[in-house]
Amino acid sequence: MTGENIFYRTLCGVVYGGLVLYFAAIKLNVYGQNPGVEKTSISQAVTPSRLISADAKAKTNLVYTPAITRAAAENVRLKNSLWWDFVGRRQSGWNIYVPLISQTVKTESPADSPAFAQAVWIWQRKSGIGPTGIIDGETLAAFIKLWQSQRLNRSTFTSPDKLYSAPISDFYDLTRNAELLKCERRTYAAYRQMLQAAAKDPSLSLKLTKTGELASEEKFLRIISAFRSREYQDQLRKKEPNAGRAQLAKHSPHFTGHAIDIYVGGDPVSTKDANRTLQVQTPVYKWLVKNAHRFGFYPYFYEPWHWEFVPGE
Ligand SMILES: [Zn+2]
Repeated sequence: MTGENIFYRTLCGVVYGGLVLYFAAIKLNVYGQNPGVEKTSISQAVTPSRLISADAKAKTNLVYTPAITRAAAENVRLKNSLWWDFVGRRQSGWNIYVPLISQTVKTESPADSPAFAQAVWIWQRKSGIGPTGIIDGETLAAFIKLWQSQRLNRSTFTSPDKLYSAPISDFYDLTRNAELLKCERRTYAAYRQMLQAAAKDPSLSLKLTKTGELASEEKFLRIISAFRSREYQDQLRKKEPNAGRAQLAKHSPHFTGHAIDIYVGGDPVSTKDANRTLQVQTPVYKWLVKNAHRFGFYPYFYEPWHWEFVPGE
């Protein structure tokens, strides 16, 4: 055997051995990867977005399920076209109630967004309604039932000693009859506190005096109407037979002195859809929806101006 032969044999051996080890390594690597691939696909199947709580999901921009995306599309359709009956009138959609709904389901997202549908879904589940994320007739009825349950639900007359005659400067109509400036005392005190809090919120852009009070020319948040006597309510009914149901009512929460109609924009107390649509978009109305409860005031959903003082008693 020549030195050359030994060299070639050794070379071939090294090359062969190297090739064997190389393919073995590939094979090992392939087998080694297979479970890894499966592991990866498992972890993809259970993505973090599926494991994360629905609440957290609504707060982030993670991918929504197809059902929630479809619910958002259905809400876009129903918010203007869901037919329902209230106060003897056929009502169209729930767009006017979006600020109240958003407050109820705790979302800041627009009504046509999946995040909104997700918040509705969560609220439905908590409220014992089959969760869909869609505001259909059943869910709207559940919202209304909740909002109505927060109201006074009484219309008994307050005794005169509990009434306070508020200064005319608090009223929307500065020529209002002096007999019509009364308000239940605690209700008035709570209203004043609420007014001060609103005045401190720069996002409302309210016109203020140097001392931080509402300026005389500011109409927002002024009292349109508070306590109404039986005689006054009778007069109203005779004078405006086509007025809103609340004005015509024989049993009105205004008899208690706990109800205040507050100016939130537009035509002060018109229930026309166009007017209410405008009112619910004002910063003042939106602020009331978010904050009035802190002062004991709860809304009558159908009349954006009507608020009732319901102290936790
Ligand atoms: Zn009212």
